[in-house]
Amino acid sequence: MTNLKQKIENMFQCILSVVFPDKCIFCNKKGELLCEFCILKTRHPERDLPKDTYAACDYRDPQIKKALLSLKYYKKRRLAIILGGILYDRLMEEIAELRIYTRGAPIILLPIPLSKKRLKERGYNQAKEIAEGLKIVSEKNINMSIKLFEIKDDLVEKWKDTKPQAKITNRNERIKNVKNCFKINSKKNSILKGRTVIVIDDITTTGSTLYEVMEIIKENGAKKVVGFAVAH
Ligand SMILES: [Zn+2]
Repeated sequence: MTNLKQKIENMFQCILSVVFPDKCIFCNKKGELLCEFCILKTRHPERDLPKDTYAACDYRDPQIKKALLSLKYYKKRRLAIILGGILYDRLMEEIAELRIYTRGAPIILLPIPLSKKRLKERGYNQAKEIAEGLKIVSEKNINMSIKLFEIKDDLVEKWKDTKPQAKITNRNERIKNVKNCFKINSKKNSILKGRTVIVIDDITTTGSTLYEVMEIIKENGAKKVVGFAVAH
């Protein structure tokens, strides 16, 4: 999306929020798209995830499901900041642990990329919006002279369009579906050497998409790589 188009859309969203103030998508309370009370009520994930992958919420929770669908399909991009905030709050311990590896360099937030076709259709990548949310909320919460996070969304590319993972029920089919559909940007990968990276996605079911990208990042020299998803 061009910068100008983006600016116009942001402006439009601003005007819209003045004319129609935000209401909680769940309880309708005025003020926020997802109110603090409803956030507190969201369920933590109960099922196990593969090694080094973490999620903040349970996808079977109808509130979280609705919030993620609204972000993905109804252009409620401001929800991403709230969802990024939930990631920050609930995975604070994991983030603190990662800082042991960073030696003062910012942790790279790497959103799972969309294919060019999908990005064009949707206009934005919801995983990148969540990463922005996580970064914004962390900056509000910790007063640090050094940058904790930096977002890099041009290191990995999704070059093959795949079926949405949610439409595949078989675990092995899911793994096969995302196999080899991501590739590293060989002009920019040198930045990964020795770095700590969090790969970010909105939803993870079996962890296969996160795993696929995490492996690529590791192969390209990152020291520590984990995966974060809003819901599992
Ligand atoms: Zn609410």
